[in-house]
Amino acid sequence: MNAKKLKKYKDLILEDKEKTLNELLTGNEIYNSLKEEAHGDAADVAFQAYEKQLLIGFSQKEKDKLEILNSALKRIEEGMYGKCLDCKEDISDERLLAIPYTLRCIKCMAKYEEKKRRERM
Ligand SMILES: [Zn+2]
Repeated sequence: MNAKKLKKYKDLILEDKEKTLNELLTGNEIYNSLKEEAHGDAADVAFQAYEKQLLIGFSQKEKDKLEILNSALKRIEEGMYGKCLDCKEDISDERLLAIPYTLRCIKCMAKYEEKKRRERM
């Protein structure tokens, strides 16, 4: 992959990282203010507990995303970016443009997700 292309993907990943960080921080602010307001009658408390659940789930998703983005940045540093983590083949430009932080080609990603799904069962 040429340097110009690599820089473009890196910029896309960094942009995504900033966005994810912002979302994480916003989530935490809402979570913290909910925690402070966690008094009132039982119905309110139940509702707030539900909201908290939602937010915790959301931040976990953002945290996972952040981890993937950091892995992709590490792959750039290592000069391995754009190569599939599993089969070592080049990942198509089409796929990288759609998901710049992807670590696997479409085939290996499908296999990986299938494996993850089975592990959860
Ligand atoms: Zn692959």
